[in-house]
Amino acid sequence: MGIDQLIETIQSYDGPRLTFMEVCGTHTMAAARFGIRALLPKTIRLVSGPGCPVCVTPVGYVDHALAFAEKKGVVIATFGDLMRVPGSSPQDGDGVPRSLTTARAKGADVRVVYSALDAIEIARKSPQLEVVFLGVGFETTAPALAATILKAAEQDIKNFSMLSAAKTIPEAMDVLSSAEDLNLNGFLCPGHVSAILGSEMYRPLAEKYGLACAIAGFEPGEILCGLNSLISQTMAGKPMVDNCYASVVRDQGNPIAREMMYRVFKPCDSVWRGIGSIRGSGLCIRAELAGFDAAKKFDVSLPRPREPKGCRCGEVLRGVIDPPKCALFGKACTPDAPQGACMVSSEGSCAASYNYQLGEGQ
Ligand code: SF4
Repeated sequence: MGIDQLIETIQSYDGPRLTFMEVCGTHTMAAARFGIRALLPKTIRLVSGPGCPVCVTPVGYVDHALAFAEKKGVVIATFGDLMRVPGSSPQDGDGVPRSLTTARAKGADVRVVYSALDAIEIARKSPQLEVVFLGVGFETTAPALAATILKAAEQDIKNFSMLSAAKTIPEAMDVLSSAEDLNLNGFLCPGHVSAILGSEMYRPLAEKYGLACAIAGFEPGEILCGLNSLISQTMAGKPMVDNCYASVVRDQGNPIAREMMYRVFKPCDSVWRGIGSIRGSGLCIRAELAGFDAAKKFDVSLPRPREPKGCRCGEVLRGVIDPPKCALFGKACTPDAPQGACMVSSEGSCAASYNYQLGEGQ
């Protein structure tokens, strides 16, 4: 079906109100950029869920990274999108939320890298320093994080470690599936994550909760194709897993990437911002590789984690409210002066709503 026909078919829907959730930061941005929500009839609601890895990383993790950053001789290596995520308030004296950016301004050695392997390079060239890489991401990133640790082990680099906050998506989708305040009808499943996991991974959601699932790519036609499938499945009363991204996603995903991931990490409970602790949704570094686990290697005392005052990221990440509903949105919280992670990350729902000037329900 061409895009025009897809739009026409979707807009002709006049059944009961349906709510679908996408759980992928790239879908969040693509839906905003292409104005997908504006194309939907009033009876179809597309909400964004916890699909941005930086956004779901809890404030306690940022506090942990900040505590390492304050240690003499420690280099924090991180992807750029974590730099401005606020730690626990209260803020520094000047009212700016504490973050890796403010820590660096005060003299901490915090370096932005483009690959986890760059962090190994820093460690190799500076044996007098301890390099801690901040390992944040979902299944798409976790195999590369695992490969980095395996490489450090192979090269016997002892001054490199990782603070892992890597997470797996299906467990969060399972929790949200039964959330009464969401009343979901289906998931627009993430394209990149599905390439690793495989389409079969979502079958339990369709069977256990009766939710429609459609895996979609990131072009407007691909997203609309996924939404059209979700509507059709729901109306037919036959929830299933429809792989609308078969050019990239296979039934069994990428077993080689998963094997590497689980050679280094083991499932553990993990805290998600806005959702809380989800059983088995985290990826902790295995005991035999504990020398590369920054959480075990360094002892630091941490403050009681506190979310930025007034920030409603938690509700945004659960799809309970749209970003403009937050009183700080576009006023005290903008991409230039973010208060919460959802406005910091380029894949965050608040940043998407702000940058593409989306109102409530858009
Ligand atoms: S607009 Fe800012 S303060 Fe409000 S929920 Fe989003 S990130 Fe948090």
